[in-house]
Amino acid sequence: MRIGIIGAGQLGQMLGIAARDLGIECVFVDPSDAPPAAATGKVIKRPFDDPEALATLAEDCDVVTYEFENVPVEALLQINERVQIYPPPDALRHAQDRLAEKGLFDGLKIPLPKYRAVDSLHDLQTAVEEIGLPLVVKTRRLGYDGKGQFIVRSADDVDAAWRNLGVQPLIAEAWVPFDYEVSAIGVRNVDGEIEMYPLTHNEHADGILHLSRAPVDAPELTALAEIYLHKLLTRLDYVGVLALELFVAGDKLLANEFAPRVHNSGHWTIEGAETSQFTNHLLAISNEALGSTTCPGYAGMLNLVGEIPDEARTLSAGNCWLHDYGKAPRPGRKLGHITVVAASPGERERRLQELPGGLRKV
Ligand code: AMP
Repeated sequence: MRIGIIGAGQLGQMLGIAARDLGIECVFVDPSDAPPAAATGKVIKRPFDDPEALATLAEDCDVVTYEFENVPVEALLQINERVQIYPPPDALRHAQDRLAEKGLFDGLKIPLPKYRAVDSLHDLQTAVEEIGLPLVVKTRRLGYDGKGQFIVRSADDVDAAWRNLGVQPLIAEAWVPFDYEVSAIGVRNVDGEIEMYPLTHNEHADGILHLSRAPVDAPELTALAEIYLHKLLTRLDYVGVLALELFVAGDKLLANEFAPRVHNSGHWTIEGAETSQFTNHLLAISNEALGSTTCPGYAGMLNLVGEIPDEARTLSAGNCWLHDYGKAPRPGRKLGHITVVAASPGERERRLQELPGGLRKV
């Protein structure tokens, strides 16, 4: 089995490592010099939408997948007739456009914050009247890690929001006073079998995921998330791993967005679950039965952003793993992560607290 992967970043690297254990060969397309996944398979050094590179994947691979969301859908459609692409390009199309994504949630009766399409200053003023304040204005396309967003707290902010973002299609959505954020990571295989990992609690810093903890001890919320995830996976005739990001407000879940790929908030599954999200993605797209998503302990995952402090390299405690993606340090760049797995939530907190102070701050 040979799998083509568009993108050779850290998610590609983790897919590549999981593939090795399954006896699957990976071929990547990525324009960067020495991308993280290079050690795990051949990299065709071309742009992600390069027709020749994609034709090579179609020719040489049994199935093609992608590890990041900004792959042009049109490029995938060029090879769709010649090779199976999972997750389906239609899922990617919805995930790339916040308006299409919210329309999908709405159609499936998955609760979400009130929203309006905004294509003019007048639309934005109307959205403020209809939704109320505060609200957040987001670019419809190519927003990530909180980029391309403007919070409108008072009527005075409306002009500034429009000036900042308004040359492109936008959406306005109600600002949710959420209790916390969770992700529901699920996987569906070619036969339609579905598994979900326990809910993951996510904390962000400067718009970037900082700390994830799983499982969340909230059976009712977990049951709700499972219903929403099943609806989404089934409607999209989805194959592979999908991460649904949700706001928790009291006993309700509101959908924020979904990622049609393996997800940063699921990195803890490498050591914390019986089958990692990476292995399950590969099993799903290669038409195999899924592995168990049971997680025997309590996992915590700390992202290392901007630098990997020296203390991280000398961590010696058992059940504590450093993943270094081998990327050059740069402010705001995800360079690695640390996972701890403990026998109880209290012990997990102790272990996270025991990480050197400099680490917890990165
Ligand atoms: P996004 O790029 O949409 O995932 O937004 C990045 C982060 O901004 C989210 O993880 C939330 O912490 C916050 N955020 C986004 N939309 C809202 C909202 N409607 N209400 C409250 N917080 C939000």
